[in-house]
Amino acid sequence: MMRLAIIASASLLVIGCSMATGEGDLGERTETVQPIVQSAPPPAPAPTPAPASTLKPLQGPSTFVFDGELTQGGWVRGQAPGGTRTAMLEETELVLDEEGRFFAAFDRDAAATTELAATLANGRRIVSPLNISSRDWQIERVNVAKRGGGTSEAWWAKREPEWNAIQAARKKKTAATGWSQNFIWPVTGRISGRFGRQRIYRGEPGSYHSGIDIAPGNGVPFVAPADGVVVLARNGFSLEGNLIIIDHGAGLNSAFLHSSRIVIEEGQSVKQGQHIGNVGSSGRATGPHLHWSLKWRDARLDPLLFTGPMN
Ligand SMILES: [Zn+2]
Repeated sequence: MMRLAIIASASLLVIGCSMATGEGDLGERTETVQPIVQSAPPPAPAPTPAPASTLKPLQGPSTFVFDGELTQGGWVRGQAPGGTRTAMLEETELVLDEEGRFFAAFDRDAAATTELAATLANGRRIVSPLNISSRDWQIERVNVAKRGGGTSEAWWAKREPEWNAIQAARKKKTAATGWSQNFIWPVTGRISGRFGRQRIYRGEPGSYHSGIDIAPGNGVPFVAPADGVVVLARNGFSLEGNLIIIDHGAGLNSAFLHSSRIVIEEGQSVKQGQHIGNVGSSGRATGPHLHWSLKWRDARLDPLLFTGPMN
């Protein structure tokens, strides 16, 4: 059986897109529930890799070797020390491939310091401290009360199954290896909303923008930014509209909101650059745009730090 990092917390999130379209908050909120144990087999047709715990790559560096964006909303990718049995980012166990390579990432509100730690087969422990630089998030203070919209029982009766479907999809583990690639932009165009942007309503913080908004025009095709397995592809979500979620493996996944059209199906493997949908304004969106968000475990990440600026 595949040994994967445990999702310790089941903090839930509505991945709605908001401020770029001037809609304010979308009832985004967090709630703690019991973790959902996934019993279905992963849909990936690719072979399941050998259990990380038995790999014990003896060849390898003497300490962690890595590269990435060591900042809030950023990521790290590298290789664990030779002989590693388990590797952790603080409390989260990392998925190691056959060469001991790993991926990890840092939430929008990540603390200034964290650490990678490996326990070797011989019991030795190797720790690599990381400094995570803070970001200057776009904060807008407005003198209006925070809306409480989207909390009525009638609203929740419709929303709950959608919410559950999104959480279940994001917990699916596949053998996808897109996490090891350099990401490309799913589509290029005007950036109409940046990751992390937040409104403060008379001192009360609203939810921050959980992805990046790209507005190339209605109907423009967009592509998979990296290889993956489609874990959700469904029309008609009340906030997200026509929604695609792609698992890139190692706990990393992408969501694409508001499509006018979805051209792939759940369970399908997609390659980087493959057409997956078309830009639209389905769900709660005032104009056509693609909202692209990235998550690693429970950490919400800045897509711009994966692709670099648009050319
Ligand atoms: Zn958005």
